[in-house]
Amino acid sequence: MVCPFCNKVETSVVDSRKNNEGNSIRRRRECPTCNLRFTTYEKAEIGILVEKRSGSYEEFDYQKLFRGIENAFGGLDLNEKQLKTLVDNIHNEIKSTGSKIKSDFIGETVLNHLKETNKVAYLRFASVYKEFSDASDFEKEVAEL
Ligand SMILES: [Zn+2]
Repeated sequence: MVCPFCNKVETSVVDSRKNNEGNSIRRRRECPTCNLRFTTYEKAEIGILVEKRSGSYEEFDYQKLFRGIENAFGGLDLNEKQLKTLVDNIHNEIKSTGSKIKSDFIGETVLNHLKETNKVAYLRFASVYKEFSDASDFEKEVAEL
């Protein structure tokens, strides 16, 4: 980390200390140029954990959500700002339910939003997400709209 006083050089750590819970580290750093000292805190940043159908976990990936929805709207009338707003609304809904969610919940949440926004995008996303095994599933979905 560069010195915040002179912005010149990499500072060195002179002392590291864990807090009582052991989940953060406080470091004293010293600048070899101006000799001033400052403190930094290091803490793990934990995102939302997604439980996949296989039972394994992965960290929630905003870019993946964005791309999935962007693909569903390919060629449709939706500008970048509207797309961002839609993805953020979905993201906020997902976040509000907790730090551990099932991957199916993400899919269902996206579908609920797309159903209200654009039927074509909804069907496209549904066909990817639900992995329709045959045409009758797809026709059933269309009939329900
Ligand atoms: Zn300095």
